Amino acid sequence: MNAELIAVGTEMLLGQITNTNGAFLAKQLSDLGIDSLNQQVVGDNSARLDAAIALAESRADLIFVLGGLGPTPDDLSKQTLAKHLGVELVTDEPAMAKLKAFATQQHHQMTANNLLQAMYPAGATVLPNAVGLAVGAMLDVQGRAYVLLPGPPREFEPMVLNALVPALLKRLGHGEVLVSRVLRFFGIGESQLVTELDDLIAQQTNPTLATYIKPYEVTLRLTAKAGSEAAAEALLDPLEREVQKRLGQYFYGYGDNNSLAAEVVAALGRTHTVVTAAESLTAGALQAALADVPGVSDWFKGGFVTYSNQTKAAFLHLDQKQIDAAGAVSEQTAKAMAEGALKQAGADVALSLTGVAGPGPNQGVEAGTVWIGLAASGQPTSASVHHFPGNRAAVRGRAVKAALFILLR
Ligand code: ATP
Ligand code: MG
Repeated sequence: MNAELIAVGTEMLLGQITNTNGAFLAKQLSDLGIDSLNQQVVGDNSARLDAAIALAESRADLIFVLGGLGPTPDDLSKQTLAKHLGVELVTDEPAMAKLKAFATQQHHQMTANNLLQAMYPAGATVLPNAVGLAVGAMLDVQGRAYVLLPGPPREFEPMVLNALVPALLKRLGHGEVLVSRVLRFFGIGESQLVTELDDLIAQQTNPTLATYIKPYEVTLRLTAKAGSEAAAEALLDPLEREVQKRLGQYFYGYGDNNSLAAEVVAALGRTHTVVTAAESLTAGALQAALADVPGVSDWFKGGFVTYSNQTKAAFLHLDQKQIDAAGAVSEQTAKAMAEGALKQAGADVALSLTGVAGPGPNQGVEAGTVWIGLAASGQPTSASVHHFPGNRAAVRGRAVKAALFILLR
């Protein structure tokens, strides 16, 4: 199956809104293993939409029209597609009943345009709208399937997930389920990860492997197709074991909505550990990342932003002469910062970050050089040096994630 998405809306052509529906649907299709080779964006114009549909027909057999199902005069998608295919529009009675109830409740008279929201091209399968009033539709004509979906993302996304995806799965025709497992890695680049998994990727059929880049991380999605969820999981298990054998040192957790900070907070909760930090080049970004995670307050009470040698000494009760002598970006200072933070905050574990964010070197230390210290009560303090690539934002962003990763290990 080969899909093409046509997003309808003049606002997109004017740059007033972004085609997030297109991105959302494209990702769902790719997860289903459906190729989408082209996308189009057209304004609210029937003739141009008609031409876009014709172009899509020349190269795709699954054609999506996104938006323009509403009641206003610029909403033309349904009528345009029906005319293009030479089919009538007919009424979906459940949607019509909902429309009438809504009109009664709002005390307003329904216009012909309102009624259109409950109509669909004859012969189509209705995709119900759980949130709004306009129904979606999926229609088969001469070996091609045409799908109409509403514009507002809060209607679009549930319709895609709850009505379209199950319909597509059925159409893929095997009565099979797809199960995905998302593995998240830090400290390895995408190309290196792909190289490590070269042979697995080359021979993939079922399960499949796909990599995605998140900021300074790599995500790997393993997807298996089988007769049941349990059977699909059973296909994923040995593949994941092999991946873990090769890349386990970079692995930190599962799931699309996961983050290093969330994993850290979960680990702190399991071990009842209170964390603090003293941050120089990241100036609080590490602590902000922790605070992004709900429920962190039991395990994070506060910390330090110590940008200059003077504040390092003052806030962490260190000897500034020693910091000056060792250099701000040094193993000795990183360790002293972590120990100072641990003591001053009364925490169980403390991280420290000191480095050169760039651009350009500082006091003879190259940009991207970052020392990360780790102190914990009753344990020897350690520090590691890192050389992060990229601009100032990248160095700081990577430093935060590296510190979180160190704390997880
Ligand atoms: P309505 O009943 O609200 O008119 P509709 O199905 O007719 O819905 P449109 O009129 O095309 O949809 O778009 C309604 C709103 O939905 C737009 O103003 C925009 O905010 C949002 N929207 C439309 N298309 C997209 C898209 N492709 N990506 C993200 N948002 C979109
Ligand atoms: Mg509209």
